[in-house]
Amino acid sequence: MELTMIRALIALFVLALAAPAAQARNASAGELEWSIIIHGGAGVIERGAMDAQTEAAYRAALQAALELGGAMLSGGADGVDVVEAVIRTLEDDPLFNAGRGAVFTAEGRVELDASIMAGNSRAAGAVAGVTGVRHPISLARAVMEHSPHVMLIGDGAEAFAAERGLETAEQSFFFTERRWQGLERQLEGLGLPVPPRPEGAPDPEPIREGALDLMEREHRFGTVDVVVMDTHGVTVAGTSTGGTTAKRWGRVGDTPIIGAGTWADERCGLSATGTGEYFIRFNVAATICHEADRLMIEHGFEAAAQMAADRMMERLEADGGDGGIVMLFVGQPVWAMNTPGMYRASWGERREPYVAIYGDE
Ligand code: ASP
Repeated sequence: MELTMIRALIALFVLALAAPAAQARNASAGELEWSIIIHGGAGVIERGAMDAQTEAAYRAALQAALELGGAMLSGGADGVDVVEAVIRTLEDDPLFNAGRGAVFTAEGRVELDASIMAGNSRAAGAVAGVTGVRHPISLARAVMEHSPHVMLIGDGAEAFAAERGLETAEQSFFFTERRWQGLERQLEGLGLPVPPRPEGAPDPEPIREGALDLMEREHRFGTVDVVVMDTHGVTVAGTSTGGTTAKRWGRVGDTPIIGAGTWADERCGLSATGTGEYFIRFNVAATICHEADRLMIEHGFEAAAQMAADRMMERLEADGGDGGIVMLFVGQPVWAMNTPGMYRASWGERREPYVAIYGDE
């Protein structure tokens, strides 16, 4: 037998053993252990750059999201329900670049992207360039479950949302002053005209000192990602974003691209934030998961996942792409970034809740 074939057989054997070994049984419920990992964007988020109140607000939002997801998962909820529910709360939170609080395009609109994927079936749904749907993640789920397609964009996606009876929202609902002023600053830097404020937006108001600088250092990333493994052993990943500030020409990033910003398979779930163009070109989410599978034989699943993620982030950095990922590999949480900080949180049946912002936490 050829060496490659022997290797492939060994790999299959190890993969078959790894999942049950890592997913201890929960004696009381007779089900598998649950796990959740979340992030709310990565960037140059350094100690001292944020005032105490803002930092506390981010930590509280991550903690609340974790608690919601953990409570649902420990109660036996389906992973798709959990990912959707947690992302919906983050989409409504103006702190994050998703739903309400999303960044603006150069034309002064909010155009939202989202996707979701279930690892057991590899069912997936995605939407891009949506302007009037309150919860793009719910629309992505509807595409996955109620259409024969994987990805819908723009007006067609909005029409499908209407058919499914999803909640709509005016552009003014998504408006936040800090994102608007961030757009103005960016457009001025690019020498592009500043569009009129969206209809229905509140009157201009001063924003907290330093908030714009912070947003720039954050690199405008604030995409929200949730990956869970439910008590049936199913891994589900979801991602939602407003994309990048002052985007033009119908630009779409990695978030709604299955394999780039979001991926889930039998063992692995991954969701990314960062300069979407790089994440698309390097097919980041799927590649890390596949690489973790490959490295698992030699290094064991925990080390393999971290190694695969770190290598990809180094590769991206070398090419000029920055950002981060959160991932569950056989239920084990892994995060990696090539930026100084990332809003992130994780929890699991036998793990303490973890909420962090800076790289050294
Ligand atoms: N990855 C997103 C995009 O390029 C941006 C982000 O992560 O905030 O659209």
